[in-house]
Amino acid sequence: MEICPKKGQIFVITAPSGTGKTTIIDIVRKNIGGVGYCISHTTRRPRKGEVNGLHYYFVDRAEFERMIEAHEFVEWALVYDQLYGTSISSINRELFSAKDLLMDLDIQGAKEIKRRFPECRSIFILPPSMEILKERLKKRSTDKGVDIDLRMKEAVEEIQGCRDYDFIVLNDDLNQAAREIEAIIIAQRSYRERRLPLVQRLFHL
Ligand code: ADP
Ligand code: 5GP
Repeated sequence: MEICPKKGQIFVITAPSGTGKTTIIDIVRKNIGGVGYCISHTTRRPRKGEVNGLHYYFVDRAEFERMIEAHEFVEWALVYDQLYGTSISSINRELFSAKDLLMDLDIQGAKEIKRRFPECRSIFILPPSMEILKERLKKRSTDKGVDIDLRMKEAVEEIQGCRDYDFIVLNDDLNQAAREIEAIIIAQRSYRERRLPLVQRLFHL
């Protein structure tokens, strides 16, 4: 399957697990219209409150491996011992309809999407400290202790990767962090290349 010629701007969002990505993405999508979300496939189990087909497509390893073999993913990665991937059909579903598309990806996925779509914008969300990150992971408390330790270990390495991102947002105050990401998305809508069709329509230039 081919990736559709795209219309919307892609925003890749990365943060160490527990930083608040999912919470922020929910707020941003409620506050500004026209923002689609690319639903990934994963082999991890759903957390309390997560809905299949809304937060993720939850599949078993055999199905995930079948999709890899069938080249159904734009990118996929092993993250915290589980498989995560963006399917071509998931991207296509959103790219044509939404003005903008948010993708929640780990560092490996973000690199691959940036390689395939160099004009995409990447945003890294930082936790205020490692202590607060651990507290947030515990607060979510649907991951077993061992999983929390693994995520904390990987967080240090992930944070080092923030230098490769276009924007870095600190999630201390939740609403402030969401506002910053909304501002990034809204500002990109005025980017010259995206405004030229409007100029042409209004002034026939
Ligand atoms: P992620 O998607 O990055 O793994 P979540 O969005 O699931 O993280 O957030 C992890 C936990 O931290 C949740 O319980 C969420 O309510 C909480 N949280 C997120 N942002 C903040 C914040 N700015 N202040 C306090 N708690 C927060
Ligand atoms: P969680 O299990 O906390 O929802 O996500 C764990 C990690 O997997 C996060 O860093 C998240 O960004 C990443 N992730 C979620 N979906 C995908 C995907 O489709 N591809 C890649 N590469 N990473 C993903």
